[in-house]
Amino acid sequence: MSSRSRQLFEDAQCLFPGGVNSPVRAFRAVGGNPPFVKGGMGSRIWDEDGNEYIDYLGSWGPLILGHACPDVVRAVCEAAKGGTSFGAPTETESRLAWLVMEAFPSIELLRMVNSGTEAAMSALRVARGFTGRDFIVKLEGCYHGHSDGLLVKAGSGGLTFGIPDSAGVPAGYAELTLTLPFNDLDAVETLLRSRGDEIAAVIVEPIAANCGLIPPVPGFLEGLREQTETAGALLIFDEVITGFRVARGGAQELYGVQPDLTCLGKILGGGLPVGAYGGRQDVMECVAPQGPVYQAGTLAGNPLAMAAGIATLEGLRAEGVYESLEERAAQLEEELRSATNDAGVTMTLNRTGSVFCGFFAEGPVNDFSSAKRADADRYGRYFRAMLAEGVNLAPSQFEAGFVSLAHTEEDVALTGAAARRVLSAL
Ligand code: PLP
Repeated sequence: MSSRSRQLFEDAQCLFPGGVNSPVRAFRAVGGNPPFVKGGMGSRIWDEDGNEYIDYLGSWGPLILGHACPDVVRAVCEAAKGGTSFGAPTETESRLAWLVMEAFPSIELLRMVNSGTEAAMSALRVARGFTGRDFIVKLEGCYHGHSDGLLVKAGSGGLTFGIPDSAGVPAGYAELTLTLPFNDLDAVETLLRSRGDEIAAVIVEPIAANCGLIPPVPGFLEGLREQTETAGALLIFDEVITGFRVARGGAQELYGVQPDLTCLGKILGGGLPVGAYGGRQDVMECVAPQGPVYQAGTLAGNPLAMAAGIATLEGLRAEGVYESLEERAAQLEEELRSATNDAGVTMTLNRTGSVFCGFFAEGPVNDFSSAKRADADRYGRYFRAMLAEGVNLAPSQFEAGFVSLAHTEEDVALTGAAARRVLSAL
């Protein structure tokens, strides 16, 4: 481990809980100390000791154009010259909103916020306000940010009352969150048949990307759509990761299923803090000042963040970008498959477009319980060895990796060669 990073991490322990401003950055899931990042460009980042890494974290997903994309940097600098925040409406908010609506036909009205957490939290408040119902359903293993009611996991039986996943979440509030296994339509049907009239919304990551990566089985999203409609509950797609990532119009475009509300973040802000939620006009008209559901933000629609978002979404308009992402990610999948085969290591690779995860587990991995069977210690050893080889993967077995438009054929070939060395020595 590099010495300046080690020293900075030690110093940071006196400043932040665990030395970090978001838990996974502390490397507790993989062991070792995190490199302190000094900068990045394209597919690469550098740490404070001058080590260079091919980066597949991409700030946890936003950087689909790569680090310090010149168009994004230029747009942010230009915006800053005109003032950094006004707390008043600006044209840039509308320009970004038009780009969102063009990509997501299900979004008829939207509200900009500052993070994915805010987007999901607010969408649920709107769903409750619109339906007059209190309960929500979330799917096991899906993450929707850190608001109280969403930090809830399922009991072993699948259909249970929620148990708080974090200290500080009142049990009485967590009980309003019912949890069900991802990819299990029968469980959804059983619950919605018996209690559908109490449920405001089902919220789901249409491709679960916070327990590794788990695509929906055929028919799952269509079934959710049908059953929520029958129950008079809203269907909320949390596309904070998948929006603009698996297709320009997200997973709803890829699978052809339209939710009532959509949550966005990450790519939408091009690396600056932005989220948004939106959907059906009649539902979104509940939001203040048009309707009775209150939600606000001092820095919502911030001009720098809007500029970064516009530059990023404009960049994704270029001919063939999603085909290029698919090609590069398929190459990476091929490299990793052949590295594991050559080394005789069991790894289940799940990939949708440019999002991927290698589980140290026998396949298939198609729900939270099969994901949890993965050997997280082995992943930790793999992760640390890959980092030492100059490849930055997600620092947890249960997080996804991202290929960006900045990754080159050579980056991916180097990654494959590193994986071959690491896996054969594991
Ligand atoms: N929803 C999903 C699907 C996410 O992956 C995340 C963050 O990783 C969030 C919501 C929360 O977003 P943020 O970290 O911007 O609050």
